[in-house]
Amino acid sequence: MFDVVIVGGGPVGACAGALLAGAARALSVALLEPRPPAPLPAGAPVEARVVALSRASERLLVSAGAWPQIAGPRLSPYERMRIWHESVAPASDAVLVFDAADVGEPNLGYIVENRLLQWALLEAFAKAGGHIERASLVSLEITSGHVNVHTSTGMLSARLVVGADGAQSAVRQGAGLTADTHPYRQTAIVATVASARPHQRTAWQRFMKDGTLAFLPLADGTSSIVWSADDEVAAGLLAGSAQRFAAELDRASDLALGKTRLVSERTSFPLNALAAQRYVAPRVALIGDAAHVVHPLAGQGVNLGLLDAAALAQQVAAAVSAGEDPGALRVLRAYERWRKSEVVLMSTAIDAFDRFLAHGAGPLAQLAQRGLSWVNRAPELRRVFIRRALGMSGELPRSAR
Ligand SMILES: Cc1cc2nc3c(=O)[nH]c(=O)nc-3n(C[C@H](O)[C@H](O)[C@H](O)COP(=O)(O)OP(=O)(O)OC[C@H]3O[C@@H](n4cnc5c(N)ncnc54)[C@H](O)[C@@H]3O)c2cc1C
Repeated sequence: MFDVVIVGGGPVGACAGALLAGAARALSVALLEPRPPAPLPAGAPVEARVVALSRASERLLVSAGAWPQIAGPRLSPYERMRIWHESVAPASDAVLVFDAADVGEPNLGYIVENRLLQWALLEAFAKAGGHIERASLVSLEITSGHVNVHTSTGMLSARLVVGADGAQSAVRQGAGLTADTHPYRQTAIVATVASARPHQRTAWQRFMKDGTLAFLPLADGTSSIVWSADDEVAAGLLAGSAQRFAAELDRASDLALGKTRLVSERTSFPLNALAAQRYVAPRVALIGDAAHVVHPLAGQGVNLGLLDAAALAQQVAAAVSAGEDPGALRVLRAYERWRKSEVVLMSTAIDAFDRFLAHGAGPLAQLAQRGLSWVNRAPELRRVFIRRALGMSGELPRSAR
């Protein structure tokens, strides 16, 4: 019998595993992942799927023992963000600029390849004594004393099962936990591009009436774009040639980085919001995208999920040290209360950005658009937002402080 079985070895599940297996009073932890990634060969081109990690996530990854594998030449710190609405020019004074130097920090965070992040966390989990089962969840059997986890290769028993199996979570469904979903009617197009002007270790983001375009600076001088466009617009962008796409990108970016050229394939992700009504049930806890999916415009999905992993690990480790059952609803509810309020706050803010800045029309939208330049002219307010972006506000788990 394991203390904990984690279903899903994406970045969030792997992080929960590494923190639990590495806790002061180490727990026995198994993790199911049907497709664990291979390490990236040295010198391989940068992968198109990347994420922006906050300072809080960096600290968590240090605590989880994964940072040494990540902090190499492929890691790309970014020092500034430039955020503007299409109604103003990319070089104008109305552009909102967040600069790490304004709060005495060396950077605002890092751009990391998804695959490197996931691989490093699974390595850290295995090194801490965790057991990785290359298998999928088939069904759950929840009893009063334990959970039987039926997998594609057999059965594991545990006192707690953690659903870290992404937006389509089989754990969520198996435990009878319901979720509210709504489509944004947008598709995110992800690709790597070279640009005529250097990215200056800056993340660039432009809000437009039909979507949001972000350039995330990569270590090799290229940028990873995340273009969240209304579905019909995205379909056209994906259907055209690479040259046509670059021309549309130059129009959409207002040439903020000069002319661009595609250096990878385009991949696309339909965008849907998801919010589980409950994150926990007896002997079951949901973390990461299994519990909540937010719009990628603020680059917060993994950052929120890593904080879920750390908060749950902290509650569970404390319960076990106190001789309590880690699957008891009392323990899990404390995790839910903590994280759900933080996630609801963040997802409401992100949806407001999408509604008023990316798509807005009318007085409220104009107010929000002007708000960018007002914030830019108010140094104290700007610092508040920078600290939010660094993930250093709110109630942080010990491993992220
Ligand atoms: C275009 C785009 C850009 C983004 N950019 C950012 C960003 O800059 N910053 C940020 O913080 N977030 C970003 N996100 C969000 C981020 O990618 C997700 O929030 C993150 O991947 C969630 O991690 P997870 O581990 O919870 O889920 P996932 O990454 O979905 O991992 C789930 C894992 O579970 C496994 N699994 C699934 N079903 C089963 C099963 N039945 N049994 C066993 N295992 C199973 C899968 O194989 C997978 O490995 C972005 C998202 C998109 C779409």
